[in-house]
Amino acid sequence: PYYKQGWQPARLTRDNKIAYGALVGDGEEYEAIMSGKVYHDAETDAELPAVGDWVALDVGDEGEEHVIRARLPRHTCFSRKMAGKSTEEQVLAANVDVVVVVTDAGTDFSLGRMERYFTLIKRSGAKAVVLVNKSDLYEKEDNEEAAAEIQELNPDADVFITCANKKRTLSVLRQYLKKGQTVTLIGSSGVGKSSILNQLLGDEYQWTDDVNELTGKGRHTTTARELIILPKGGVLIDNPGIKEVQMWTDEKTLREGFLDIEELALQCRFSDCKHGKDAGCAIRAALEAEQLDPRRYESYLLLDEEIEKLRQSRRKRQ
Ligand code: GDP
Ligand code: ZN
Repeated sequence: PYYKQGWQPARLTRDNKIAYGALVGDGEEYEAIMSGKVYHDAETDAELPAVGDWVALDVGDEGEEHVIRARLPRHTCFSRKMAGKSTEEQVLAANVDVVVVVTDAGTDFSLGRMERYFTLIKRSGAKAVVLVNKSDLYEKEDNEEAAAEIQELNPDADVFITCANKKRTLSVLRQYLKKGQTVTLIGSSGVGKSSILNQLLGDEYQWTDDVNELTGKGRHTTTARELIILPKGGVLIDNPGIKEVQMWTDEKTLREGFLDIEELALQCRFSDCKHGKDAGCAIRAALEAEQLDPRRYESYLLLDEEIEKLRQSRRKRQ
């Protein structure tokens, strides 16, 4: 057992490839390196330690290195597939219990994109929570309709209508944090993630150092802490990779939420079937037989449009 060797359980707070932040039970955070064994035992990048992982930490004496001797098993793993390399995965956060997707009932609303978030979350093993935020900007009925449509897409998700600067938003999040769970927020840029996080942190922290690092609004270092333990309970994980999860999602992952439809398309008589009036169209047959939900099919049709947008935004960023 690890404890016999004087190793301590620690949770990783940041990862800059060379060194990790490792937090132990008494609140002390060590700068730690990975042992050669951990490195060599990992057959894929996904098996290397990542933020959120629990590890066995060998705390060195004065002047010695602190060494990660083992990565403990994960109960969830939020990861992205690397573009172009179908077998390689990059872990964005390990042991996340709840992924909160922030969206709104207007400009950001997209069932297609929501479906893909749900796919990523399901694959990770975490619980999905959705905030239909900016409720003050839209009609009550629009907020409610958006929430209902999202709920229909995933009956297992908890869906809330929120406004970032209302106290109720905090109590919504706190019910997940209270149980000592690890929570992360994802969603498009501009939907209100930072506003919500700042509220939560501002409510709990009198000091600002960690807050600045977490939201990236202050000092920016390569070792910015990505995991923060809230005094009132719960753990938040936030990093640029998670924030931009949609930006870099490759087409393959995008299509992953619609494998059943892709499968159907392969069964169409003509390989260039437009799934309209074409003879022998398997998708139309499934729709007519009510084996395929027309709304899911609609989201699927939006996919091409969104993939094109993704390509454009990638081009802009290059
Ligand atoms: P992020 O990119 O997801 O982190 O989004 P931000 O938190 O930076 O929010 C983007 C903008 O939307 C900011 O100007 C916020 O003040 C504003 N905003 C965020 N949440 C709300 C909300 O619930 N209602 C309104 N009216 N504005 C909001
Ligand atoms: Zn077809």
